[in-house]
Amino acid sequence: MSGASVEAVVFDWGGTLTPFHDVDLLDLWRAAARRLAPERAEEVAAALLAAEQRWWEEAVANGRSGTTHDVLRAAAAATGLDVPTELHDEALLAHLDAWTPHTRTLPEVAPLLTELRGRRIKIGLLSNTHWPRQWHEHWLARDGVLDLIDARVYTSDLPWLKPHRQAFDAVLAALGGVAPARAVFVGDRPLDDISGAKNAGMRAVLIPNNAVPGYDVVPDATIERLPDLLGVLAAW
Ligand SMILES: [Mg+2]
Repeated sequence: MSGASVEAVVFDWGGTLTPFHDVDLLDLWRAAARRLAPERAEEVAAALLAAEQRWWEEAVANGRSGTTHDVLRAAAAATGLDVPTELHDEALLAHLDAWTPHTRTLPEVAPLLTELRGRRIKIGLLSNTHWPRQWHEHWLARDGVLDLIDARVYTSDLPWLKPHRQAFDAVLAALGGVAPARAVFVGDRPLDDISGAKNAGMRAVLIPNNAVPGYDVVPDATIERLPDLLGVLAAW
């Protein structure tokens, strides 16, 4: 493909900068449920998981984003729990803490981002998430990549999720107003990442992941591993 040279690369997070984990989501909610209702932990954990799954289904269906507190509120309503706000916070922390081992940045990320920055390419992150920004940034800092990413956009701070165009516009604006035609998106989800980025006018690079839903869209390039991105950019 010919066209404008690449000024920015924007990455998805889960399954792109981190390994894709087939995690036991119910177990990750048990930590929160034990804080919310120790005597009904199994029931509440199941309600939290159901609320999260419903939240994702509705978010994907209508493009609307939200926060983990929305999930907790829905589960509390479904189980008739009357939970004070501070206990919500404590339960959220327990849940995110349980996620921590599954949030490791891939070892090839820091060298790749350093190489891109050396080429004066801006780096962005756009993650579909209901988790708070501070937790994402805590994990990125732990792995030494936070300061390598110029603009980090989490949909928990936005009204919309990928593939909505406004999510992509938000990260391009945060990068200082990069034109979509001069930006490349890298992700593992054909609908959210590839279709969304292309609709926003960006070039889109897919890292295939058999565990995510398929979608009828043709990426501008496909790579098996993140370092292969350098070859793709060289050709552009
Ligand atoms: Mg992903």
